[in-house]
Amino acid sequence: MVIDRINYLKDEINKHNYNYYVLDNPTISDFEYDKLFAELKELEGQNPFLVTPDSPTQRLGGVSEKFLPYTHKHRLYSLDNTYNYDDLIKWYKKIEKQYGENLELVCELKIDGLAIALSYDNGIFTTGVTRGDGVTGEEITQNLKTIHAIPLKLFEDVNVEVRGEIYMPKSSFEKLNEENLKNGEKLFANPRNAAAGSIRQLDRTITAKRDLSMFTYTLITDKLNNPPQTHYASLMYLKKLGFKVNPNIKLCKNVHEAIEYCKEWENKRFELDYATDGVVIKINKIAIQDELGYTSRAPKWATAFKFPPEEVTTKIKDIELGVGKTGAVTPVAIFDPVQLAGSTVSRASLHNFDEIKRLDVRIGDTVLIKKAAEIIPKVIKVIDTPEHSSLPKYKPPKTCPVCGGKLGGKTGEVNLYCLNPNCSELMKSKIEFWVSKDAMDIDSLGPSIIEQLYDKKFITSPVDLYRLTIDDFMKLDLVKEKSASNFYNAINESKTRSLKRLITALTIKNIGKETADILANEFGSIERLKTATIEELKAINGIGLVMADDIYEFFHDEKNVIMLNELKELGVNPPPVEARKSDILKGQTIVLTGTLQHLTRSEATEIIKSHGGKTSSSVSKNTSFVLAGENAGSKLEKAQALNIKILTEEDFLGMIKE
Ligand code: NAD
Repeated sequence: MVIDRINYLKDEINKHNYNYYVLDNPTISDFEYDKLFAELKELEGQNPFLVTPDSPTQRLGGVSEKFLPYTHKHRLYSLDNTYNYDDLIKWYKKIEKQYGENLELVCELKIDGLAIALSYDNGIFTTGVTRGDGVTGEEITQNLKTIHAIPLKLFEDVNVEVRGEIYMPKSSFEKLNEENLKNGEKLFANPRNAAAGSIRQLDRTITAKRDLSMFTYTLITDKLNNPPQTHYASLMYLKKLGFKVNPNIKLCKNVHEAIEYCKEWENKRFELDYATDGVVIKINKIAIQDELGYTSRAPKWATAFKFPPEEVTTKIKDIELGVGKTGAVTPVAIFDPVQLAGSTVSRASLHNFDEIKRLDVRIGDTVLIKKAAEIIPKVIKVIDTPEHSSLPKYKPPKTCPVCGGKLGGKTGEVNLYCLNPNCSELMKSKIEFWVSKDAMDIDSLGPSIIEQLYDKKFITSPVDLYRLTIDDFMKLDLVKEKSASNFYNAINESKTRSLKRLITALTIKNIGKETADILANEFGSIERLKTATIEELKAINGIGLVMADDIYEFFHDEKNVIMLNELKELGVNPPPVEARKSDILKGQTIVLTGTLQHLTRSEATEIIKSHGGKTSSSVSKNTSFVLAGENAGSKLEKAQALNIKILTEEDFLGMIKE
């Protein structure tokens, strides 16, 4: 019966609203929530007499009782949303029919945080309130005052109310979760939950420690003498008043331009340090907005296009074990194929056995998986289902799943390593990594060629690659003379790859390409690196005690000494690294932003390195200075808010010259 389904959907959605809005702890993905919501809306649309005032489609959000309730002067709304462009066109065409063709639209990224209303009296910040159910929110003024992006005084003495989104940068969210993991505290599922949990802390000194920010996107103009006539103009005015407005807004001539914008940001969003789950598309003219008005929960003059989900839930069928390039045994969750961020996936990383234990993942569990750009999906939490407790706990292996060899690891290490240096999977992983783009970049040599070379016993380690002849390649399936000599030449060419690449290719535990770069610049040659002491290594900016230990151990392991000598004899000889020009930037972390006039980004990075400094992609209190070019955006704003030194290109070049 329809009514039963409607009641079921209402109960489910209400339960999820409570978990999401009040507990900041969702148990299903937004995509699945939106599916339940869309189904309820459709059923209610077909059976309007079954719509009750308490239906989740008639209201929004949820209010917790942590803070004092506050009745909004102007109601806050949610947004209707869609995952497809046809709906977007339909929405636009309907309005176009009423108001004439080519109606301007404003596209804004949909920031995945939580909505806040701020009031200013004569330019002074007076009250800040969460959206809550749109009518009543929680008054959190004092907590909001800890956020630097919220101006306490505006550049004009006006009476305004504004709305915006509080968010936590992705990098800060990762750091917060790392800290919480270390301290055995609760992990947040995503930056939105972390932001919501941080802003609604009763102890505001905790809020102050969390890295929160805010983009402002709505201006209530009823008390202004000359209010802006378009939404775009009001965004510009918000900026002028001193608010942080997202730099990626776009004024579009029609819906087709808006769709182009959505397509552009579907992938580009991964480059941002804040989470966006879609694009908000708004009619530009305020007069039309006013005429169109609102439904019970959303404006009719705006809609959200949501990006393909980055998170979905699925059921684990199996946990497969692989051996990586450092020998670490890595568990991977296997499940029936699901759509995630625009591609089909059936595997997700579980990282290590500590992680399985922490999440208490069991085969048969329903889990939430997430995909970030180009990274393989990972399991982020187990959904609390009735079956979970009856499933057997997962037991880590006692021996290597490939060669049956012993497993081990240093105390305190989260990984288990296969201790057999001849483990076939370990060696194949090492060789595959050796030829990869980030390492020696012998890209013509794909996994199937390596597999054949290994299985036919032509190679047993990366060193053997340099002993191969053209004839050896011709003995492989489907390899003719031309490709055999191409493979041979590609390997030969790799002999003079940079020192950074060679160090990366060695697969030293915990040492990736960034650290390899630091080591190459610091020591200049393998010979010199071999003689580095732990003290010397530890003293380098960016190298901690564990890394220093791992590097030292690697270069003092007899097997590795033999391997490095063999590589040298076979002609693997990176060109020497140019000596460092000075130490003036030693220990300094520099962030580049905007367009520089005389230098490209990579030239500026090289200069910084050659004077002992390092670059970072995000501004934090550890940033020494920001090198800002033209059209610098949010990084510059953050640096200003944190009182971090800002240098122009001229200042920077002058300093280097000196
Ligand atoms: P929403 O997040 O879909 O969209 C409305 C909100 O978008 C606004 O309130 C505002 O906060 C925000 N927003 C961000 N950038 C904006 C911009 N530039 N302009 C205007 N608004 C902007 O709606 P909602 O009512 O906040 O939440 C509903 C959504 O939350 C659902 O669609 C679902 O994705 C998620 N949710 C998930 C669960 C769960 O259990 N997983 C439960 C409840 C809600």
